[in-house]
Amino acid sequence: MEWLTDMAAKRAELSPDRVAFVDHETGAELTFADVEARANQMARALRMLGAAAGDRVAVLCHNHPDFFVLLFAAQKSGVILLPLNWRQPAVELAPTVTRSGARLLMHDSACGATARALAESCGLTPVGFADAAGEGGEAAATDFEALLRDADPAPFGDGRIPASAPWYLLATSGTTGEPKLVVQTARMAWANAVNYTQATGITAGDCTVNYLPLFHTAGINLMSMPLFLTGGTSIVLRRFDVAVVLRLIGEKRLTAFFGVPAIYQALSLDPAFETTDFSAVRSLGCGGAPMPAPLLRTYLARGVTVCNGMGMTETGPTVFLADPQRAPEKIGSVGKAQILAEVRLVGIDGAVVTGAGAGELQIRGPGVTPGYYENPEATRAAFTEDGWLRSGDVAARDADGYFAIVDRIKDMYISGGENVYPAEVERVLVTHPAILDAVVVGVADARWGEVGAAYLIPRPGERIEEAALVAWCRERLAAYKVPRHIAVVDDLPRTAAGKVQKHVLKHAHEEQKE
Ligand code: ATP
Ligand code: MG
Repeated sequence: MEWLTDMAAKRAELSPDRVAFVDHETGAELTFADVEARANQMARALRMLGAAAGDRVAVLCHNHPDFFVLLFAAQKSGVILLPLNWRQPAVELAPTVTRSGARLLMHDSACGATARALAESCGLTPVGFADAAGEGGEAAATDFEALLRDADPAPFGDGRIPASAPWYLLATSGTTGEPKLVVQTARMAWANAVNYTQATGITAGDCTVNYLPLFHTAGINLMSMPLFLTGGTSIVLRRFDVAVVLRLIGEKRLTAFFGVPAIYQALSLDPAFETTDFSAVRSLGCGGAPMPAPLLRTYLARGVTVCNGMGMTETGPTVFLADPQRAPEKIGSVGKAQILAEVRLVGIDGAVVTGAGAGELQIRGPGVTPGYYENPEATRAAFTEDGWLRSGDVAARDADGYFAIVDRIKDMYISGGENVYPAEVERVLVTHPAILDAVVVGVADARWGEVGAAYLIPRPGERIEEAALVAWCRERLAAYKVPRHIAVVDDLPRTAAGKVQKHVLKHAHEEQKE
């Protein structure tokens, strides 16, 4: 068994008085020493609630510093956390919770009702924590604040934690179908934090805002964990709020920021964007979904360089991140594979692509998951025989060694015998002056086998005229790539991480035809 140091204990030893987390709601601050002491108390409280090493504990909460304390408490006590999606009702969450075998459900005040319904249907004990810690419960045993108060803050455990044991379980975004539960380990978390901090140069002096949901990897690992590794600060918002984020940026409280493309889009559309001073933010990362080039240029025009990166729940997530110096000239690229990530491209013939070229992106390294939770079949399918993770994405490497994500293999469709990558068509569509966002899916067609169906969101005040748009596309794309169906929409079905659920659009298209 390999061991790593207990990161919360180490940070408390190295920088006890620095602020680790600020609760934006209350202004309360937790230093690294506070996090460590509280995590030790929480580890003991979990034991008192009957959670032994290896037991699963479900969590249903909005962003809160105590979520991170709970995460470290779980690590110290060997408990496996299962963060749940608060956008889902109890009936949708029940199958995952039942499968996990969890008996405790930690929840905040906003999720109280769902937690109680879920607890009842799955036979769990609900425990109010974070901003619900003092609320008590029907049984005194669930008054978490009282348990914490009485628990010893002295170090729990011997300061070592297993490197590759399950620490917490995270669902993938569910962009292509049912989300998969990915085992997350300490090794993955620290490999990712090293990759992210090395690529961005963030240090102890940096401050970020944490607002992406904590039941997906980005909220935990692209904001707070890298900053925790360096000894920096996370300001925690319960959830995303455009006005608050722009204000924190404008007040120069943030020096580092991460967002998915939908967040960058939302910030740029707010009237306050134009006048917000971004000068204090020296690192802006983006990833998780294709970043439209015009959106990157909107930021560049304001003197703000957003670095595009690529990762997966299965990889910690950081694999690629653009270098801020080269990002402005390499729009569309995700940079190079970072310091602890090994990548290769494999062509359809199964041969490894060397030099410039495209193929399936495969990943290896300490940031890669040991597998899907209690799903050996899915795990076997996700890895090659020689141990590389299949990303399911096609990527291309240019002559300078910079990578670009072409598309998901699953989303590719074949029209009249030709392969079409919808992402390529989308990249062209979003350069049209009237189009804010574009999504293309392949749908069945009697003549061509499959054709593209485009769903377009117009820019505010703009109209999209179909015949003119088709003519415009024909000047820029081969005829077989030009979408045959065009729908102008106000909104698109998205996951909690802001990604478009193409399978929902495909399904809707088929239903409409029937
Ligand atoms: P599911 O696996 O449930 O279908 P998902 O793949 O969207 O969902 P995540 O693990 O959150 O779940 O996302 C990883 C995927 O996101 C990658 O495999 C890739 O397809 C896509 N992705 C990530 N970053 C980028 C990027 N910068 N550009 C394009 N696509 C990206
Ligand atoms: Mg995936």
